[in-house]
Amino acid sequence: MSDVVTLSSLTFSYPPGRKQESPRIALNNVSFSIGQGEMFCLLGPNGSGKSTLFRLLSTLLVPPAKAVTIFGFDLKERPAEIRQTIGIVFQNSSLDKKLTVRENLLHQGHLYNLRGPALHGRIDEILARVKLLDRANDIAETLSGGMQRRVELAKGLLHHPKLLLLDEPSTGLDPGARIEFDAYLREIQAAEGVTILLTTHILAEAERADRLAILEAGHLVALGTPAALTAEIGADIVTIDAENPAELAAEIREKFGGAPAVIDAKIHVERAGGAEFIPALVGAFPGRIRSVMFSRPTLEDVFIRKTGHQFWNAEARE
Ligand code: ADP
Ligand code: MG
Repeated sequence: MSDVVTLSSLTFSYPPGRKQESPRIALNNVSFSIGQGEMFCLLGPNGSGKSTLFRLLSTLLVPPAKAVTIFGFDLKERPAEIRQTIGIVFQNSSLDKKLTVRENLLHQGHLYNLRGPALHGRIDEILARVKLLDRANDIAETLSGGMQRRVELAKGLLHHPKLLLLDEPSTGLDPGARIEFDAYLREIQAAEGVTILLTTHILAEAERADRLAILEAGHLVALGTPAALTAEIGADIVTIDAENPAELAAEIREKFGGAPAVIDAKIHVERAGGAEFIPALVGAFPGRIRSVMFSRPTLEDVFIRKTGHQFWNAEARE
């Protein structure tokens, strides 16, 4: 598998500004590569550096030399060549809402010097791909949120990019529309032979990727397939809600061993055979436990293990 994107010890800081006295390090010594044809996800909480990396790869920010290559071109030295090979879908809508779907795509095509029958043919092809050919002459703002995102996707793909970059593409979509959007991405990955990099702060979305990188505060904290990352935990997760979590965690450690940790006022225990552990636990501390939850490890547990703190807000768990 040849690499499409390679990051080698990439560090990027925003320079000091009017309100910010010292440089802000947004990416800190990040290294990984993305292979041909992968659907790769960059997962991280707000402020972890996802958009910064997206802007660098989109050639909107300039990285240090030799830190990033795309299709073998150094991103700092050869942005013009790279720009021809990438398609970009921004987090915020870039559609002209008062124009029709087709008009939006025509404008995009002109930016890439596509015109005439070839452009119209490509628009039909790509709209068919995202199942919106019958809506080509509708005004963009009359489409549902999910459909508008698919028009954005069509726009990003119009010039046959070999690498498609999407920044939080499912923002504003409900969980059902999100699953549907990911299914379109999968179809496109196969049909157009495109490598996909998307960013998200939603765990369920990252679980659907081929491989992912987890970023936290500019650091790469985990890299691998979703299955390999959760398998690393090698145990079940038991989460306990109690009146005095710190006190009870210490007593659980004393009685059962292991390393119970208190995260966001809940006790987390990694335990092989978690289902058998629960009755023993409840029996050992009568009246002390408000609730117990048993689960297979998820990417959230991977994040907790790597950083020692909770993922983020409830939205991330949808
Ligand atoms: P994410 O997309 O994961 O939420 P960002 O890449 O937007 O994260 O931000 C990473 C860090 O860089 C944050 O600390 C953020 O405040 C900072 N940052 C982002 N954009 C700028 C900017 N234009 N100037 C200064 N700091 C910035
Ligand atoms: Mg962002």
